[in-house]
Amino acid sequence: MSKYADAVVIGGGIHGCSVAYHLAKRGLSHVVLLEKDYLAACGTGRSAAGIRHQFGTEVNVRLSAASVKMMENLVQELDYPHSIDLMQKGYLMLAFNPSELELFSRNVALQHQIHADCETVILSPEEIHELVDGLNFKEKVDRSLALISDAYEEYGDGLVVANSLGKDSVVVWDLAKRVNPAIRGFIVTTRFKPAATKARAKAKVETAKKPAPKRAAPRKKTES
Ligand SMILES: Cc1cc2nc3c(=O)[nH]c(=O)nc-3n(C[C@H](O)[C@H](O)[C@H](O)COP(=O)(O)OP(=O)(O)OC[C@H]3O[C@@H](n4cnc5c(N)ncnc54)[C@H](O)[C@@H]3O)c2cc1C
Repeated sequence: MSKYADAVVIGGGIHGCSVAYHLAKRGLSHVVLLEKDYLAACGTGRSAAGIRHQFGTEVNVRLSAASVKMMENLVQELDYPHSIDLMQKGYLMLAFNPSELELFSRNVALQHQIHADCETVILSPEEIHELVDGLNFKEKVDRSLALISDAYEEYGDGLVVANSLGKDSVVVWDLAKRVNPAIRGFIVTTRFKPAATKARAKAKVETAKKPAPKRAAPRKKTES
């Protein structure tokens, strides 16, 4: 390996790989990518690979549109012999209360302001049912409650729910509290979350740190 490089990029996740690729594309001939584990070892490898446009800041709206445009032509750009399985079928985000609906509405207005051909729309519950055939929230909630109940039955007080303060994890957290208010949790988050969100979640998680009143008996493990 050479002792010198035009640029050294640390981390072989999507950001590091993209930076290295774009530097090379712009003419740097010796770009070194250092990855301590393996490519896509962390978040990138775990991503559900959903691509959305519904962002609330100009930089994110522009970045996501530019990224999709690039992905549409990536097979040709890389002369890649296979498909990259890019599917553009829409991304449904649910507002759970009026203030979220207001926030989403502001975001949609911003997206339209930036891109005249933006297709993001606010839909009513009835319109969502028409759009997504068979969408049944009750089934989803019941299934999630059953999964959490099973886990609590198996692990008792050992069950600890991670809360990243994202919408999905807040929903999981609320469902866990329905299964048993004594289920404990912890917060994994970044410093970019609004202070009010952090304070609200911290208060919830703090109350859950108190010792559970009754320990559920661990279920006997069986071979499967
Ligand atoms: C379960 C899950 C689902 C997700 N779903 C989506 C989705 O649907 N759509 C979406 O857009 N985003 C999604 N995300 C978020 C997305 O995956 C991340 O935002 C993105 O992958 C972050 O990429 P990154 O390159 O910044 O970080 P990472 O992918 O975490 O890469 C960082 C890399 O740096 C390496 N590294 C760290 N320290 C060093 C060091 N000192 N030396 C060398 N290497 C080092 C690590 O090993 C790692 O490989 C999801 C994330 C998760 C966890």
